[in-house]
Amino acid sequence: MTDWHKISLEKLSKQLETPDGYIRLSGPLERDNIVNGDGLRAVVWTQGCPNHCRGCQNPETWSYEDGFLVEIDEITRRLSEFKGQSGLTFCGGEPFVQSKACKQIADFVRKELGWNVWSFSGFTYEVIKEYGKEPWEFLKSLDALIDGPFILEKRDLSLKYRGSSNQRLLHFEQGSGKILDIE
Ligand code: SF4
Repeated sequence: MTDWHKISLEKLSKQLETPDGYIRLSGPLERDNIVNGDGLRAVVWTQGCPNHCRGCQNPETWSYEDGFLVEIDEITRRLSEFKGQSGLTFCGGEPFVQSKACKQIADFVRKELGWNVWSFSGFTYEVIKEYGKEPWEFLKSLDALIDGPFILEKRDLSLKYRGSSNQRLLHFEQGSGKILDIE
């Protein structure tokens, strides 16, 4: 696997070249999801992932050209119509290569809908913190992150929300990115 610690997340984000005000998705918005975080959740499925984990269940989300572009305003309008959700989760693909767009959506649902916000990432917390300005700003807008690549040799289906034992469920102090708890 590529050593992602040597690569800037911001450079990776630029490869995606999503126009301002848009996000590239791999599938339709989901609601009432109970497997990608606590409570009843909406899910945004992002397109594009540089991690290419062996055994990934969604390899069709890797390409930076596939999927479809959607205006962020359209996403927030449609999320506002979802009733009874306690939060939003970003899944992928790799949400952190579209950090700016994801943060805009995260800020909207927290402020306007009162939801909490979770994300998955194939990058670790430490890499996001050290290497990416926009990715770090997105992380600071989260309540929780499931971090790290999927490692086939460490697959463990008994883990909550995670596929392999190297992945962590991190809970944050909202707004600072400070880790409060690790599951
Ligand atoms: S980070 Fe997630 S979407 Fe990307 S290759 Fe790994 S398992 Fe698949």
